[in-house]
Amino acid sequence: MTLEDESREYHRRSPSGKVEISTTKPTSTQRDLSLAYSPGVATPCRDIAEDQSLAYEYTTKGNLVGVVSNGSAVLGLGDIGPAASKPVMEGKGVLFKRFADIDVFDIELDLADPGAFTEAVAAMEPTFGGINLEDIRTPDCFSIEAALRDRLDIPVFHDDQHGTAIISGAALLNAVDLVDKSLGEVHVAFAGAGAAATATARFYTSLGVPREQITMCDVDGILSASRADAGELNEFTEPFALGVEDGDLADAIDGADVFVGLSVGGIVSQEMVQSMAADPIIFAMANPDPEISYDDARAARDDTVIVATGRSDYPNQVNNVLGFPFIFRGALDVRATDINEEMKRAAAEALADLARTDVPDSVVKAYGDGPLRFGTEYLIPKPLDSRILYEVTPAVAEAAMDSGVARRSVDLDSYREELEA
Ligand code: NAP
Ligand code: MG
Repeated sequence: MTLEDESREYHRRSPSGKVEISTTKPTSTQRDLSLAYSPGVATPCRDIAEDQSLAYEYTTKGNLVGVVSNGSAVLGLGDIGPAASKPVMEGKGVLFKRFADIDVFDIELDLADPGAFTEAVAAMEPTFGGINLEDIRTPDCFSIEAALRDRLDIPVFHDDQHGTAIISGAALLNAVDLVDKSLGEVHVAFAGAGAAATATARFYTSLGVPREQITMCDVDGILSASRADAGELNEFTEPFALGVEDGDLADAIDGADVFVGLSVGGIVSQEMVQSMAADPIIFAMANPDPEISYDDARAARDDTVIVATGRSDYPNQVNNVLGFPFIFRGALDVRATDINEEMKRAAAEALADLARTDVPDSVVKAYGDGPLRFGTEYLIPKPLDSRILYEVTPAVAEAAMDSGVARRSVDLDSYREELEA
């Protein structure tokens, strides 16, 4: 059977779709039902009306994330609309559940207008412990996320922006170390200046790459001072254009230590790789086809070439599932009001650290293609490594507590043990 037919069958098989609601309390007797609903339910209602934080104790709020999209930029499929995006949003819910036992309501809104979308999501705040914005087109995703983070007391996280930033950031931390460079000295060239690329560039500055050592390109070439003056850039991309001269992608890559591709497949040649500084790092993450293939990048030169892509069939897959389940798990468990820079950095650092430890046999077996040992072909953990839950999640919770966005504190040692159990 082809993948297409198998996928139709998988989704259609009864009950159709991938999720269902199940109840968590006894419902067999009349007494149970009068606790679950009227008249017994009135008591937690009154309590919550007096103290809103009790919603976390009496309802699912504290373990419930809204995965919200308008279907305007779905995977590599583009603007396919809200109904067609539903399998993706259900799938995201499956990943939240599978990796961090977080429940998800997937919400597909027929709202192309960013203002109306923002209002609708803001109105859902009482339902959820957190909001994962998903697959919303650039630049709408920027203003929607900024407005919601500002307005809501629960964390709001646009995974397409920050997930990639965090996971590739973890890979970058380890990659520079492997080639004996430091984040403060590397020059980084970006192909792409959209949702993922701008968030990734900003995150790299937060990890320690000086902003003036980052050059970004979009389809029209380098984001330069003259293009900023011409009003072509936005508030997120303009800082990277300060004092930068005009040029094309090849100019940006020439001499760079790191290439980050979050654009389209096939736009980087082996000649461009040859023009990079010694021991180059190449994160070619356009999906499904990278800016340059893993093999072509590795074969382009004789020194060390560290390559990561978005693909599961090559080493170093930058896969967002290494981040969002655990970042939300940590945020929810301390009732964080935000997912801030400190929490994102903590997640990246914990992932990078985990990749440096011995990989259990069970993980190696799950991937079945030789040893997994820290190095150029194993920069970041594998998604099926169950240690991520108890190594990364407490680091996120700790960063939330230390940075003052946690509304509840946990004892980190016992929290880690609970997660491991
Ligand atoms: P997006 O917001 O649409 O941004 C795409 C960017 O690529 C735009 O800035 C666009 O420039 C630029 N671009 C297009 N053609 C180009 C070219 N020939 N040269 C240089 N830049 C070019 O999309 P996104 O959500 O950021 O995603 C971008 C890519 O990254 C996609 O392929 C996506 O699959 C991939 N991605 C991978 C991961 C992962 O591996 N974990 C995660 C997220 C995204 P204009 O603005 O001028 O059109
Ligand atoms: Mg997405």
